[in-house]
Amino acid sequence: MIHSKKIELINQTAEMQKKAAEIHKEGMTIGLVPTMGYFHQGHLSLMKASKEETDYVVVSLFVNPTQFGPSEDFNRYPRDLRRDMELAKNAGVDMIFCPTIDEMYPSGFLTYVKVESLGEKLCGANRPGHFQGVTTVVCKLFNIISPDFAYFGQKDAQQAIIIKKMVEDLNLRINIRVLPIVREKDGLAMSSRNVYLSGSEHKAALCIYKAIQKVEMLFNKGERESKVLMDQAEAIIKDEPLATLEYMAICHIEDLSPLEKIKNRALMALAVKIGKTRLIDNTILKID
Ligand code: AMP
Repeated sequence: MIHSKKIELINQTAEMQKKAAEIHKEGMTIGLVPTMGYFHQGHLSLMKASKEETDYVVVSLFVNPTQFGPSEDFNRYPRDLRRDMELAKNAGVDMIFCPTIDEMYPSGFLTYVKVESLGEKLCGANRPGHFQGVTTVVCKLFNIISPDFAYFGQKDAQQAIIIKKMVEDLNLRINIRVLPIVREKDGLAMSSRNVYLSGSEHKAALCIYKAIQKVEMLFNKGERESKVLMDQAEAIIKDEPLATLEYMAICHIEDLSPLEKIKNRALMALAVKIGKTRLIDNTILKID
């Protein structure tokens, strides 16, 4: 369905806060989809979920500098506001909140939100400060937009776990929804960063999903030893010359502690560099 309704764009936090208060005053619920833009079907699935559940859908679009390390891709991260506005409009989004860096981090900014321990594991071990940047910006977005529901992707499994913990620990009255990973037809998890991949790199990146599928297959056949599962998955990644494994883990789905043996459920997550591009993916292993 193509939506013909206009989509609004707000750049200022004060205006956004005022607008959110007006929407609530009218008795409507607000759904928020926080993003860094350059939309793909993964983003759109979150917007559609919000459209179904909430009266008013806000998508925030902000390439957040505090979650990028000094040698990471902040400057070259893909950006295309016009294209994103069109895609969001067609998904039924009511408003895009697209603040400037100065709006979000005015000079003299000093306050950060950090979820201890969880933020240092998995991706956090290689990206110090990353999750503090994420929780700080998401907490600010929650305060600016005051959503009733906020939508995140399972693609960033650790991020979703950390945000849920922040909401619990800080008594935020927001329902967090986590939606499944959307993949390309060939299995590669959709990501704004996939545009960095050349044709041969894209092909090479398929080893990530192959490794996940191998683990799922072995798990479904009854294998419960993490080492056995990860050895098989690592072999698939190592077999691909363009791929370098950054980490692979089978861990508890809430506290992210490593599991030697899987009892009921586990998160299997990995980060792989394909050339210069860092990609992440994961799966939940569970006994039905
Ligand atoms: P990003 O713009 O990459 O920060 O992502 C914004 C939101 O979209 C996050 O909650 C991501 O987890 C989610 N997302 C990104 N890629 C996917 C995907 N392939 N499937 C589902 N959700 C995704």
